[in-house]
Amino acid sequence: MLQRILPAGKDFIKEIVSAEDILVDATCGNGHDTAFLSRLAPDGHIYSFDVQAEAIDSAREKYQADNISFVHDGHENISKYISTPVKAGIFNLGYLPGGDKSITTVYDTTITAVDALFNLLTPGGRIIIVIYHGHDSGKIERDALLENLSAWPQDKAQVLKYQYINQKNSAPFLLVIEKLK
Ligand code: SAH
Repeated sequence: MLQRILPAGKDFIKEIVSAEDILVDATCGNGHDTAFLSRLAPDGHIYSFDVQAEAIDSAREKYQADNISFVHDGHENISKYISTPVKAGIFNLGYLPGGDKSITTVYDTTITAVDALFNLLTPGGRIIIVIYHGHDSGKIERDALLENLSAWPQDKAQVLKYQYINQKNSAPFLLVIEKLK
């Protein structure tokens, strides 16, 4: 059966990751994706970012592991924390389910972060972005990301949009960026 959006995105990551890779969760939130990455690269390292101390603290409590660094800072500052090549990263955008809906990712810092992470990516590396556009700032973020990524040269990256076209208009969809060289 065809996968739902986030599981499909995780498969795009799983396909290319080896045990010793460096990975990034750009939106830690409840920490589920961080835990997934931590299991994929037991001999590597995961950097997990969130601006909310509460999110970081509860994820750290639930999923403490030697190969995870939780970073209480915005993903737009990624290059302050990482200088080694990164194999893959996840952006699960929007706001934390059950949390403060006013703390949501916003297009300008998201685009800065995607650029910064892409610069750290090894050739063949991938970034997945799950876009939630049911809320107003999500729509702005969706449009800005699509406009920005559509303009990336084909010899730099492949950018895939993975979306069910017979679901609700506001259903989340996935972007996959693969670095070519
Ligand atoms: N919408 C997803 C979950 C998204 S969680 C779902 O439904 O499953 C998004 C997380 O991104 C939140 O925990 C929020 O605090 C965090 N966030 C917002 N802005 C950020 C930024 N600039 N850098 C890092 N994390 C950020």
